[in-house]
Amino acid sequence: MTEKRSEISQLGEFGLIERIKGNVQLGNKTSLFGIGDDAAVIGAGDESILLCTDMLTEGVHFDLSYTPLQHLGYKAVVVNVSDIAAMNGRPEQIVVSLGLSNRFSVEAVDMLYEGIRAACKNYNVDLVGGDTTSSASGLVISIAALGRVNKNKVTYRSGAKVNDIVCVTGDLGGAYIGLQILERNKQEFLANPEMKPQLENFEYMVGRQLKPEARMDIVFELAELGIQPTAMIDISDGLASELLHISKNSGVGIKIFEDKIPIDSKVYETAAIELNIDPVTCALNGGEDYELLFTINQSDFEKIKNHQDIHFIGHVHDNARQNLLITKQGTPIPIQAQGWNHFRET
Ligand code: ADP
Ligand code: MG
Repeated sequence: MTEKRSEISQLGEFGLIERIKGNVQLGNKTSLFGIGDDAAVIGAGDESILLCTDMLTEGVHFDLSYTPLQHLGYKAVVVNVSDIAAMNGRPEQIVVSLGLSNRFSVEAVDMLYEGIRAACKNYNVDLVGGDTTSSASGLVISIAALGRVNKNKVTYRSGAKVNDIVCVTGDLGGAYIGLQILERNKQEFLANPEMKPQLENFEYMVGRQLKPEARMDIVFELAELGIQPTAMIDISDGLASELLHISKNSGVGIKIFEDKIPIDSKVYETAAIELNIDPVTCALNGGEDYELLFTINQSDFEKIKNHQDIHFIGHVHDNARQNLLITKQGTPIPIQAQGWNHFRET
């Protein structure tokens, strides 16, 4: 008898995680929430500890021909801080694990840690440990973060209620456009090494890709205003994918309006004119913006309706199978996730 072999690409990243989750049971009373949100939740008296991890691998998540090591270190911390923020918590500690091939020097590791330390300082996080191994090829950087939040203030993906307002911070699509610009530059440079990098007009987007920030400022502001989002997630894979996570986990449907999706004018122009791609598609499916997507009760709207950096893009309704984007012309289109999904066959 031959052993069964299934391709991971058939399940996709999310399918694989579902499969792992289905075979895992939590035994400890302190394990309040396991797989399936931005961070795990661990009971610690009146507070909850939040625990998450994110791994970045060379050639998949970053290309060192255009990614400065300091920025890579900074981003590796930020993506974890962002997951703690998405649970409504504050990050406190990280551990950093590295796989290094012999291509990397001591000075290269120093540069990576310069970025890691800068992010730790910015977000008030302590670097408390890690692991160092060699790697057969390339650089792997894996960071785990620990955060804390009052046990009644944990914000899951599953709390969205009918009639809630759907909010998103900052602007979307910039990180994806930044990546396209960096890739285009790389190809041009490979074809003509004499070429000088031409990034002057694209600094905003390139910055969004190489040096993102986590929205801890929003977490603190919402707390000061006495607002607890009913559901929250960070935008790592793209708005569409994250909306569907909230919909599925909360058992509700979401309707958003195309003309409400926040897109910076520089991002819009670069997408439409320079790259000839649809800016809205970039915002929906681009990913890596690390903004926060959350839902609030209508009664909280007054408190943030004039906030410069929070945008109200739609609302929650009761049909979980109907997640719709209403176009500028008023046409409803089903929201589909086309964001970054590891292992998916393209
Ligand atoms: P995010 O994009 O917020 O980092 P992911 O999509 O990576 O979240 O992960 C979703 C959930 O699945 C999280 O709870 C994460 O801890 C869990 N998860 C991801 N990979 C694994 C794995 N290999 N084993 C167990 N849990 C996993
Ligand atoms: Mg997340």
